[in-house]
Amino acid sequence: MTAAVNLDPSNGTPGTSGGPSRSAPLGAPDASVRAAFDAMKRTWQERQGLSYAERMSLLARLGDAIKAWEERLALAVSADFGNRSRHETALAEIFIPIAAVKYIRKHLRGWMRAEGRETSWLFMPAKNKVIHQPLGVVGIISPWNYPLQLALIPIAYAVAAGNRVLLKPSELTPKTSEVMTAMLAEVFPADVVSVVNGGPEVGIAFSHLPFDHLFFTGSTGVGRHVMRAAADNLVPVTLELGGKSPVLVHPEFPVDKAAERVAVGKLFNAGQTCIAPDYVLVREDQVDAFVRAFERESTKLYPRLADNPDYTSIVSDRHYARLNKLVEEARTRGARVIEVNPAGETLPAAGRKIAPTLVIGAPDDAAILQEEIFGPLLPVVTYSRLDDAIAYINARPRPLALYYFDRDGDRIRKVLSETTSGGACVNDTLLHVGQDDLPFGGVGRSGMGSYHGPEGFYTFSHKKAVFQQSRLNTVGLLSPPFGTRIDRMLDFVIGKARRR
Ligand code: NAD
Repeated sequence: MTAAVNLDPSNGTPGTSGGPSRSAPLGAPDASVRAAFDAMKRTWQERQGLSYAERMSLLARLGDAIKAWEERLALAVSADFGNRSRHETALAEIFIPIAAVKYIRKHLRGWMRAEGRETSWLFMPAKNKVIHQPLGVVGIISPWNYPLQLALIPIAYAVAAGNRVLLKPSELTPKTSEVMTAMLAEVFPADVVSVVNGGPEVGIAFSHLPFDHLFFTGSTGVGRHVMRAAADNLVPVTLELGGKSPVLVHPEFPVDKAAERVAVGKLFNAGQTCIAPDYVLVREDQVDAFVRAFERESTKLYPRLADNPDYTSIVSDRHYARLNKLVEEARTRGARVIEVNPAGETLPAAGRKIAPTLVIGAPDDAAILQEEIFGPLLPVVTYSRLDDAIAYINARPRPLALYYFDRDGDRIRKVLSETTSGGACVNDTLLHVGQDDLPFGGVGRSGMGSYHGPEGFYTFSHKKAVFQQSRLNTVGLLSPPFGTRIDRMLDFVIGKARRR
């Protein structure tokens, strides 16, 4: 059974859900988080990692459990958000993790196989190979925006690589954490996967533990703290962070089609997606056409907002207030603001729904063009030449995703090679994250390291280099007492007669 430590004051009394109790009084997160870690570390010392058979069977159970718990999980996510579209949850949090588990099981045997490496003739007939070993006890810190996917897929890859895992989910989705913890308890023994619940104070204690690897998904600001904490113990980190992912629309691409794909990607989960299109670069003379097409598409997707179960709420009052402030600041500083509220509804603050909103002509230093938006607001930025648009992107921190709309192969290659982003999607948005065989991760300020695909397995594995000497070998030639024989050999391998 999976042990769960609950240290979140907003989340009831500390306790356990299933399995042996590892709870601790509130106010002592350090000690209890440490205790959960120590228990797992002890198991690692005694039994090391998981066999191939164990990994395969646990992953199969995980896939089955996600299916069986779908309804309970979706209800919990929706309760945490206020309203989260049931279909968005099914697509992003149920289907994608199940597909990932299936993909991992299909490839695991091949990934685990030792890789033969070249051996120089000088050392033949010795052999070289790389073997993949589990790292040990891995810590995973996950955010609230896709609270299932962003916990379950890292767990699946960590377990696939044979590790033991301690998870710290976000305190902003406590109901989801509770149900997910119970589900994980059904799937995993407590010494394979355990959950530690709690807020930032628990996150801080967690990130100071001497894990064998720390995998963090969250904001760039918190990522900085996590990396600093991990540095004290020289714990290697994977940071899956956020940022402002641009969309660049070439004028030769049908602007309606681009606007349609941008609207779908932007408004999924009400823009609360790490790879959501953050802002769009459109050539000056196409702004009006883009705006009209976005309005049309948005109206088609969400003809009503307040009572529309397809349209997701903003996760908390704090995030809701922040988004409204971004719009107000841009408006007071001269931006044109267009709210797409087709039925002209009043959106009560208690429902935390924000209409899809276009913001055109905001000054460059407005917060909406500086901060990651993480909501259904879309600034439109204009450019005149493609090179200017590329320069605009390159003058800002490297984004997690880049979306380019064009059908000209040379220009597509140019944009992909002249910009640096974690991933990219050509002529669509978001879909690169759903490709099981593609790595997913950021670069620069949007993160370091990646998972999904074979990279997911390697992120959680140690590649151990092994040189295996053969019974008959030439090693005696390289050892003292040095004489003419080694000199001749060195002349030969270095490629010239050397001074004696
Ligand atoms: P966040 O950084 O506020 O929190 C993430 C997790 O870190 C939570 O579990 C939180 O409790 C914990 N935490 C908070 N303070 C901590 C500290 N000082 N030390 C250790 N842990 C701490 O992020 P969020 O608001 O939950 O998520 C939104 C952000 O995450 C956005 O920036 C988004 O772009 C990013 N994100 C990135 C990806 C990705 O795959 N790259 C995916 C989803 C979200």
